[in-house]
Amino acid sequence: MEYKGYMIIPGKWEIEYRYAAGEYATKFFKGLMEEKIYGVKCPSCRRVIVPPRKFCERCFVEPSEWIEVGPKGELVNFVIVYRKFHGLPDPPYAIGLIKLDGADDSILHFISEVDLSSPYRALKVLKPGVKLEAVWAEEKKGMILDIKYFKPIETG
Ligand SMILES: [Zn+2]
Repeated sequence: MEYKGYMIIPGKWEIEYRYAAGEYATKFFKGLMEEKIYGVKCPSCRRVIVPPRKFCERCFVEPSEWIEVGPKGELVNFVIVYRKFHGLPDPPYAIGLIKLDGADDSILHFISEVDLSSPYRALKVLKPGVKLEAVWAEEKKGMILDIKYFKPIETG
């Protein structure tokens, strides 16, 4: 065992798995394959929930209709990552909460096409309220990364 003032305990997890996505997630992921982002509307509070869920967690009722949202939206908040984490891209990269047009919830996704070489440069572009749009992957697989990332929309 390695010791650097604290114990380094070797280990390895490699878990293959499959799961049934369910009716709502399946429609959401199939939509992504056609470059459409779907949410559902709660008949009680009228919120548009994205990603869609089988029930509104505020009202405990089943959504009444499917609503297409985005692909543009607004940055709610974000983090810029400057350290390497296993299974994630090489830093730097940004992850943000994006409130898509027509939605009341936010989705979490990568934000790219921003100079992240220093936080000061990045903060000139990335701030809450900045408009973003989805950039689609060329090859769709019915996964969240069918949206490759979001990028700031040029304004002015
Ligand atoms: Zn509701």
